[in-house]
Amino acid sequence: MLIVDAHLDLSMNALEWNRDLTLPVAAINAREAGLTDKPDRGLATVSLPELRRGNVGLVVATQIARYVAPNNPLPGWHSPAQAWAQTQGQLAWYQAMEAAGEMVQINSRATLEQHLALWADETPNDRKPVGYILSLEGADSLVTVANLAQAHASGLRAVGPAHYGPGRYAQGTDATGGLGPQGRALLKEMERLSIILDATHLCDDSFWEALDHFHGPVWASHNNCRALVNHNRQYSDDQIRALAARGAVIGAALDAWMMVPNWVRGQSTPLGMHCNLEVAVDHIDHICQLTGSAKHVGIGTDLDGAFGREQCPYDLETIADLQKLPELLAKRGYSAQDIENMLHGNWLRFLRNVWL
Ligand SMILES: [Zn+2]
Repeated sequence: MLIVDAHLDLSMNALEWNRDLTLPVAAINAREAGLTDKPDRGLATVSLPELRRGNVGLVVATQIARYVAPNNPLPGWHSPAQAWAQTQGQLAWYQAMEAAGEMVQINSRATLEQHLALWADETPNDRKPVGYILSLEGADSLVTVANLAQAHASGLRAVGPAHYGPGRYAQGTDATGGLGPQGRALLKEMERLSIILDATHLCDDSFWEALDHFHGPVWASHNNCRALVNHNRQYSDDQIRALAARGAVIGAALDAWMMVPNWVRGQSTPLGMHCNLEVAVDHIDHICQLTGSAKHVGIGTDLDGAFGREQCPYDLETIADLQKLPELLAKRGYSAQDIENMLHGNWLRFLRNVWL
């Protein structure tokens, strides 16, 4: 079954973790054996050959670069211009993958339908480019709102205004507060350009303000449920209902701390915490029960996004193991149609509504 993964930090993996994603995951991990250069580097689960093996033919792939003020302890760039330059390097990597035939940018209805037809045909996946929809996780790198039009021309189709901590346009996970004039101006420009608002990572204040002020399409690329793991990074039931009312799709994330309660980074183990793909189904099922349908949830794994296999469901060795999900969902009583919707159909319906 075709799988759409709505959140992967591929260019970050390539440029910050120095991964050649054209290689098998085993080769990447062999070359990184013993490396301790980055605190969040883990065992790789994602590469382009593994995406093909798992029939993950379409992903939403990020550009990501944070700006940090002098008093901000998070890692990040010391000026927005540096952050912008980082995202442009990330764009250059995606373009290099396109030139090599490894990836193809999906940015319109026509490119989407053409790509789906390619992935539906009988030829082996190893000849097919992985489709990517370009998104921006955290908008700090837009030096001014005027950069957004340029980014859109480069293919940017979704923006999450915030990431972790305080942002220049909105407040993110673990922060508080609203959008401010810059954030509202950003949402207005996103509306003009038909850019999707990714509500993931918005703190509660910014989340509700953004939903009030933004009239364009909203999704949440990678977000789990606060009812199951109580943290501000997760959505409350009210937020899930509000998103569904806006026609949103919420991507289930596979970062273990967002799946099971009381995860301690670097100490907990997936086996010890009983973190497996069944737990992802618990979060998916919670969204379905709350919203009364299987139309508002999809997959947005965030695999290799500042964590590795050490912090993943134990029954997932690489991203190709997402193909275990259909059976697990069927065991919960979901119909074949529901399962198709959750694994790709909901994202595709959403995109077809936006890209008329
Ligand atoms: Zn994220």
